Amino acid sequence: MSNYNWCHGPECHTQETQSRVRGSGENKVLRTRRIRVYKPEEPHIYDFFCNQSCLMDFMREHITSVIAIAPRREALETPIKVVKEKYESQRYRYTDNGYQPQSYQATRTTIKSVDNA
Ligand SMILES: [Zn+2]
Repeated sequence: MSNYNWCHGPECHTQETQSRVRGSGENKVLRTRRIRVYKPEEPHIYDFFCNQSCLMDFMREHITSVIAIAPRREALETPIKVVKEKYESQRYRYTDNGYQPQSYQATRTTIKSVDNA
């Protein structure tokens, strides 16, 4: 048994593509695309939208409602450590003998996660 969803894009049924043409003779229509859902137990965003354009059309139309589901009223923070270490590196400098490698002291900045447990 297969599961399907209709694309939720509000303009999906207005896009002029062969994949949306349905009906016969003089009674043809452009129809919202049907999307096959392979793993209903693991919902994927593209189980509900046939493409990114339909997804973004939906988001533009319903962004206020979507954000209301889980509003962010404060910034989130992730504790980190910023580690700066000096190391020997080389770069090419133009000299009287053309481009020559020259050593210099470089600084590498690394963001390391902190174990909160
Ligand atoms: Zn669509």
